[in-house]
Amino acid sequence: MPSVPPRSKKLADKVALVTGAGQGIGLAIAREFKEHGATIVAAEINPDTASQTASELSGECMALEMDISSKTSVVLGNAKILDRYGRLDILVNNAGVLTYTTWEDCSEEDWDQVVNTNLKGTFLCSQAVLPAMTESRSGVIINLSSIAAKTGGTTVGPHYASSKAGIVALTLGLAKVAAPRGIRVNGIAPGVVATPMTDNPRLVAYGAQVPLGEMGRPEDIAHCALFLASDDARHITGEIIDVNGGLFMD
Ligand code: NAP
Repeated sequence: MPSVPPRSKKLADKVALVTGAGQGIGLAIAREFKEHGATIVAAEINPDTASQTASELSGECMALEMDISSKTSVVLGNAKILDRYGRLDILVNNAGVLTYTTWEDCSEEDWDQVVNTNLKGTFLCSQAVLPAMTESRSGVIINLSSIAAKTGGTTVGPHYASSKAGIVALTLGLAKVAAPRGIRVNGIAPGVVATPMTDNPRLVAYGAQVPLGEMGRPEDIAHCALFLASDDARHITGEIIDVNGGLFMD
């Protein structure tokens, strides 16, 4: 793919933290942002996958081992970024987990694992980056919600849909707090995107119902994230953008 000419780079000189950047949507966002001039901090619970992404992306890039569900890990990770770069311009709260349960079978452990990663992790990472963004009077936070937040979930359990609906509320709440500080906070609600997370017959069958004829690609989400991260979206905050091929329309 031809690289973006320097004058067209939308994220030149920005430092962007992408959680879950080792695969799937996070990796596509890291590639897209890098292509547009950002310095990427690739955060992952598994240090090997963080390093894989960092070494794949050319130029300055930081691999960060960080468990978003742990406040200690998130605070330490944020400190390492500020220590190395002195600032953080963009946070993409992308890391997430999905397990399959029914209402009847969803155990307390299932609930805690999914909600503590998806919802608490988004809260912890956002809280950690706020002071530096507030000080610089600028910043962008992008949260990965899901179509499940709107449908209540079709093939996934109540824990996943609830965690993603919570991310919508969190996005709107933080957008209000952060706007006077020059920080924009938005969300993306993907439908079904072909990644390791959706490598499951139930989700492939759901993806077959997409009105535009195919499951989403990770790059479809990355393009939306680039738009939200860039000055093209300078007047947009507190918005959740559906990227779902028409699978749910509201
Ligand atoms: P994925 O392929 O499963 O990738 C998620 C990444 O997050 C993995 O590399 C995973 O690492 C990492 N991760 C998990 N728990 C973590 C933690 N506690 N701390 C740090 N990293 C952690 O998922 P995806 O499909 O790319 O999804 C990305 C985001 O989009 C998720 O929030 C997901 O809920 C959302 N989304 C996806 C779809 C879809 O159709 N794919 C639809 C709607 C919303 P390990 O693999 O090592 O655990």
